[in-house]
Amino acid sequence: MTDISIFEKILNKEIPCNPVYEDEFTFAFNDMSPQAPIHVLIIPKKKIVNVNEMQEEDVEFAGRVLFAAQKIAKILNVNTGFRLVFNNGEQAGQTVFYMHCHFLAGRHFSWPPG
Ligand code: 5GP
Repeated sequence: MTDISIFEKILNKEIPCNPVYEDEFTFAFNDMSPQAPIHVLIIPKKKIVNVNEMQEEDVEFAGRVLFAAQKIAKILNVNTGFRLVFNNGEQAGQTVFYMHCHFLAGRHFSWPPG
């Protein structure tokens, strides 16, 4: 997949967003259609389509996305409970084909998810 995704445009500052966190490997910003009081999207600063398409050389970027989640939980003071979701593929609800972690917090989350 070579199309420029919306998240690459956000990363390149071609599209505005509300940033929450940034480091050498990751960038995080508020979801434009929040599904919880806190709904942040964490993306790697490298184009990875999704978990299914990951290559071994992407492992550090993917791991850094999880580490960024820990930092965001501290920044937003929600380290007592948050949910991380990676939608992988259309059937799982992925609509943007650039790896992203949904960081959700601020309400109770039921299980199983929908
Ligand atoms: P997916 O369905 O691929 O797992 O999640 C894509 C997410 O990106 C959705 O929650 C959607 O609301 C969010 N999103 C799509 N376009 C934009 C955008 O231009 N800006 C922001 N901030 N979020 C977006």
